[in-house]
Amino acid sequence: MASLSLKHIYKVYPNGTKAVNDFNMEIADKEFIVFVGPSGCGKSTMLRMIAGLEDISAGELSIGDVVVNDVEPKDRDIAMVFQNYALYPHMTVYENIAFGLRVRKMSNEEIHERVVQASEILGIKEYLDKKPKEMSGGQRQRVSLGRAIVRDPKVMLLDEPLSNLDAKLRTQMRAEILKLHAKLNTTFIYVTHDQVEAMTMGTRIVVMKSGFVQQIDTPKNLYRYPKNKFVAGFIGTPQMNFFEGTLKKSGEKVEVAFKYTDARMTLPYEYLRKARPKYFDGNSEVYIGIRAEDISLAPNVVAASPYKVKMIVSHVEDLGDESLVYGDINMNGDGYSESSTRIIVKTTLSHTYRPGDVCEVAFNVKKMHYFDKETEETIVPRIPDINEVECEVQDGTLEFCETSIKLPPALSIGNGSGTVLIPSDCIMFHGTIPAQIVDCEQVGDRYLVSVELKGRRLYAVSSEEKVPEPCLIGFDLKKITLSVGNEIVQPLEEMVRLDGRFEKKKETTECDVNGKLKKKKSINFYLNVCETLFPAPEHISQKLFSALSPREVFSSLFTFEFSPYDIEFTQEGIEGDVVSFCEYGTERFARVRIGENIVNVFTDKPVSGKVYLSPRFDRAGVVEAARGIKLV
Ligand code: ADP
Repeated sequence: MASLSLKHIYKVYPNGTKAVNDFNMEIADKEFIVFVGPSGCGKSTMLRMIAGLEDISAGELSIGDVVVNDVEPKDRDIAMVFQNYALYPHMTVYENIAFGLRVRKMSNEEIHERVVQASEILGIKEYLDKKPKEMSGGQRQRVSLGRAIVRDPKVMLLDEPLSNLDAKLRTQMRAEILKLHAKLNTTFIYVTHDQVEAMTMGTRIVVMKSGFVQQIDTPKNLYRYPKNKFVAGFIGTPQMNFFEGTLKKSGEKVEVAFKYTDARMTLPYEYLRKARPKYFDGNSEVYIGIRAEDISLAPNVVAASPYKVKMIVSHVEDLGDESLVYGDINMNGDGYSESSTRIIVKTTLSHTYRPGDVCEVAFNVKKMHYFDKETEETIVPRIPDINEVECEVQDGTLEFCETSIKLPPALSIGNGSGTVLIPSDCIMFHGTIPAQIVDCEQVGDRYLVSVELKGRRLYAVSSEEKVPEPCLIGFDLKKITLSVGNEIVQPLEEMVRLDGRFEKKKETTECDVNGKLKKKKSINFYLNVCETLFPAPEHISQKLFSALSPREVFSSLFTFEFSPYDIEFTQEGIEGDVVSFCEYGTERFARVRIGENIVNVFTDKPVSGKVYLSPRFDRAGVVEAARGIKLV
């Protein structure tokens, strides 16, 4: 039994392949986690790093409370099951299961007890005297599971364990593995390329693509709220339908126009409220997604629905109790190629559809998805990160939603009308502006609080469900973006980045030994940042040496990242010049020129001219600059 913590994990193979990029996840004790994604997405590499079969290039992996980056596989208290069962053909099932325990020099009695117990759990007790070749694929995989569970591991790792089995056996073994998980009360991590397997087994699923995590969520949330087009298309069979189109808002309605056809639908704006206004201009192209099961061919549903499109049937796949009707919403389309007008409808109707039939289908528009054409990210995220609001600036006062805010000097901008971008995490619930809470929705461990300011909805993020009543909000003005006319004021950079290197120095110090001064030689490590040496904190040295070869540690360029609050003005340190200030009323940041860079440093004291800065390296992030790998 164990939790796992995976922080900023990277894997770069010696040939330069970046197989895993910045993988972050907390896995709770007893979870059943599935890593899923197409071949080559990095899921096995990630699993093998957890197992210790592959070195971790950067990042920190903990099992329980112990960082295991440098712990040998055999000491990690994990067991692994592979696709090819890797059984010893000359040994009996009993000996195959017992083998790992014998290597560990366990007593014969205990081995016997464990083997018998495992074989009972797996229903292979009567095969214990047989050789693997006398068994079916499913039974052999049970033996390899047995070999894993007798070890009583903290974590079970399974790498495509069912890929070699036929469809029927796979379904059966899936259920058995789930039963095993419930019985063993152990954390399971399971790798598969099969989304059905992932959806039916995982308590949470990690969807990966090209070495990057796309989404970590429960099966239900992945299906309902895919974060991007890839996840939307990967989860669910048949694949979600994707059309291209545009959205045009007028009043409380949005017209959805499907490209390459004259299909149109007018939806309530309510369904798209979380999307940024830029998508509603009737020009910005989006992908419109809808699952085959959310489209209906039923005549009564179609007759009652205002959300209809015409399709021409190309072919039908009969699956017995349901069928997939393929077609096109472009009457000249062929319904076979994956075009942006092809449509697949799932139906349980017994009606026979023939190629060339033209019928109307109704969309369940509440289940429609929309993705940005460029980024392919959803445009209606569960937690919108930005509120985009029209505004007016007059003599240093910002007006939006009938609310006036005196702008601090850092946000000084000319008069005129424009837009203000307010991140949802910059709205605070201890301000002075009265607002009305209209909704509160839990999303993971956060709450999306919808507030109304004079009838205009704003989304705010809160870590607590209950926000103080009456609701008085405020804005962290450091985070907003203001654009008026041609002028734009960007948010304060949240991160200060300085480049530097890791160096060693042979030094001689004098120390007092029983009253006598003695010379002591030592090698000390320093960070050379902007030509200034700082003693390297122990944890940074350790992380760099564990992630890189000594040669790389001393030859690489690193970027050190700090919060503007973690840099102090001192008597000596990195030399810079104060060039101006960002005044936010309650807070003030000096803009300091260091070489060609300008960095923001929080200050509550008067500073000017030439200054010296000492960053707090104990809180710094460290990135290996060439490969962009976060090491600390
Ligand atoms: P998956 O399990 O999702 O199919 P892998 O983790 O096996 O993917 O591989 C991820 C990427 O890393 C792929 O591009 C693969 O070619 C590459 N890769 C895997 N193993 C090695 C290796 N030993 N050396 C170099 N590249 C590798």
